[in-house]
Formats: sequence, C-alpha cells, structure tokens
Amino acid sequence: MSDDIRTTIGLRPVINVSGTMTSLGASIVVPQAIQAMEAILPQFVEINDLQRMASKVIARLTGAEAGFVTASCSAGISLAVAGAITGNNLLAIEKLPDATLEKNEVLVQMGHVVSYGAPVDQAIRLAGGKVVLIGQATSTHRFHMENAITEKTAAAVYVVSHHVVDYGLLHLSEFVEIAHAKGVPVIVDAASEYDLRLFLAQGADIALYSGHKFLGGPTSGIVAGKKELVRSAFLQNMGIGRGMKVGKESIYGVMAALEAWEKRDHAGIRERETGYLKLWKETLDGRPGVRALIEPDPTNNPLERLRVVVSPTEAHITAWDLATALSRGDQPVIVRDHEVEHQHFYLDPCNLHPGQEKIVAARLSEELDRARASNEIIATPLENRSRHRFDGILRWPD
Ligand SMILES: *Cc1c(COP(=O)(O)O)cnc(C)c1O
Repeated sequence: MSDDIRTTIGLRPVINVSGTMTSLGASIVVPQAIQAMEAILPQFVEINDLQRMASKVIARLTGAEAGFVTASCSAGISLAVAGAITGNNLLAIEKLPDATLEKNEVLVQMGHVVSYGAPVDQAIRLAGGKVVLIGQATSTHRFHMENAITEKTAAAVYVVSHHVVDYGLLHLSEFVEIAHAKGVPVIVDAASEYDLRLFLAQGADIALYSGHKFLGGPTSGIVAGKKELVRSAFLQNMGIGRGMKVGKESIYGVMAALEAWEKRDHAGIRERETGYLKLWKETLDGRPGVRALIEPDPTNNPLERLRVVVSPTEAHITAWDLATALSRGDQPVIVRDHEVEHQHFYLDPCNLHPGQEKIVAARLSEELDRARASNEIIATPLENRSRHRFDGILRWPD
C-alpha cells in the first residue's frame, strides 16, 4: 500500500466496482497511452497536424471519414451541435453561443434527456442550440419527430446509455431515416459504448465517444463522422471549443489508446471479469436475504455485472446502507448504486487491478456478517440519502 500514490498524498485508496465514473477518475489508463503521453509532453508539435493524424486513426477504427479529439464526450456534443449550427462560418463560430442563424433547433427525444453528471440538454444549449424535445418520457412516435422538423432544425441528437428510457422510443435506424429524409444530420452520443463502428454504420453523421471510458485513454472525447460536419465541429476550437481544449498529450494519448484497443485481448479480459463475477456470486450465494444475479449490460456492451439484491429483514441491512458501509474504512469499495432505492446495487468488474476482486469479496462478507450479527436492522431512511446528497459538494473545498 505504501507505494500507492493515493495514500502517499492523503487520498482514500478507493476500489472501483461502480463503472467508469468521472467522480472516481474514469478508468485505468492503458500503458500504451501513458507511454505516448510521456513521450510527447516535453516536445512542441503543430497541433492541427497532430489532430490530422488523430483523424486517420479515428477514421480507421470507426469507419468515419474524419475525426478529432476534444476534452470530453460532453464537449463533443457541444462542438458537434455548434458545427451543425454554424457550418464553416468563422464569424458565426465566434458569435456562439449567440445564435442568430437561421438554423439552431436541435431535436432530442424526451426520454434521452438524462444526466451523465450534467444534463444532456445543457451541452446543446452551450453551443447556442435550442433544444426541441420530441415525444414524452416513455414514448416517441414517428409523427412526433416528423412534425418537429422545420427549416430551423440544425441537428438531431440521439443518446445511447443505460440512463435513457429503454422502451417506447425511436430506435436509431428510424431516427436517422426520419432526420435524413429532411436533410437533418444525426449526432449520436455513444460515450460509453464499446462498438466504435455501429452507430456510424447505422447512418449517424457523427458519433461521439469518451476517450477515458472503455478505451482507457486520457480524459478526452472523440468526434467521428462525415468529413464536412467533423470539420465544422473542429473549427469551433476557435470559438466555444477553446474552453474545452485538449493538449498534445491527450490527442496523442487517445491515438495510442485507440491503437491498443484494436489489439486488446477482449476475450481474455472478459474471461477475467467473468471470473470476478463468479467469485462475488459464490461469496454471496446462500447468505440470508442476499441474491446475486449476473446480468448483461443494458446497452449490449460485451460485459456483465453482478446485481446484488438485498432483503433488509433477512440481511439486517438495506441495500443503500450496505453500499455506504462498503464505501467506508481502509479499503473503500464503491459500488454502482444509482438504482439503490430498488434494494439492489451492481458490482462492475471492468475497473479493477488484479487482486482487488478478493478485497471486494472480503469486504462484502465482512459487512454482511456485521449486519447479520446486529440485533437491529440497519435501515436509515432513504429520504436522508437524497436530502444530504449534495452536502459534501456544497461544502467544498472544506
Ligand atoms: C459518460 C457519458 C457522457 C459524458 O462523457 P465525458 O467524456 O465524461 O464528457 C455523455 N454521455 C453519456 C451517455 C455518457 O455515458
């Protein structure tokens, strides 16, 4: 532990079974990206030439005509929308987010307006886009979209995420068909998706990815798609994109991460992760009031997670109190708890260093044994969780 940078500087050595979360430092950056960043950091480069090289790598891996690297996928949404609004008009680019242009409306299905840490619609509004919601939370029909397209429509944004409503909405192929019938470009937020080709293959004009999620690159976003639209998005670096800039290390680091992704032993990694899930399931099976279920990823990424369902009367603890207990102590385990009010949380196996899976298993046993031995059921009111959710951040930096 003593050579762990985190304990050296006084941070808690958290173990991440939550997923690729910005709040936890996203992902484990692959060695190839770290080496690339180290190599380029002391050198000067002509940044647009470096982005030209990134464009080639992105094109090769995604099937796009062109691409570039930006600060984050969220930045990518803003830049792609801005590009659709301004085209290559440099004056309009400087004027954003004041959009006096004839086209600034951006269609989004209501069931796609989620938060990935910030609201999807804000990324659009930052770019001068006027969000036009189509459908209702759990239903969008063709007529909603067809009738929402006007001569002011600049783009349509489609979000792929476990956060979005997963029924009753328009599928991407239909969304693209309706948009393209009226000449409207489609921008897909695929931040957290493994498949780098699928969405462009399904007709998206731009697909956006995070560089720091499954790819294991530095904090960054990847914009990939039709050349003209990608260029218009890239030109925003002389406008709103300036505040979202990436340095040479991120551009070159993502290039290396993409190349490593191409060669990664995906089957081997999945086998290792499946082993973690089995270990945790064996640890939990047979414990009173606990059920462990291996479940596929909701957006079809090639991975499973372990759903841990907790019955407080038998386990003597609620799912949220168990999640909180696990997050405390010398070896804090941070679980995936965004649905915890349903009395379950998930364990995500994708962000572990070898050996940490055993610590997770031991912590689960420890906290469940402790709860079981307690005479009272550990059940803090769920409302307290939401009431105090932002206390910490509102006190920051104290
Ligand atoms: C993570 C995520 C984002 C934000 O990605 P960043 O690269 O962290 O900005 C946007 N959309 C979805 C669906 C995400 O999962």
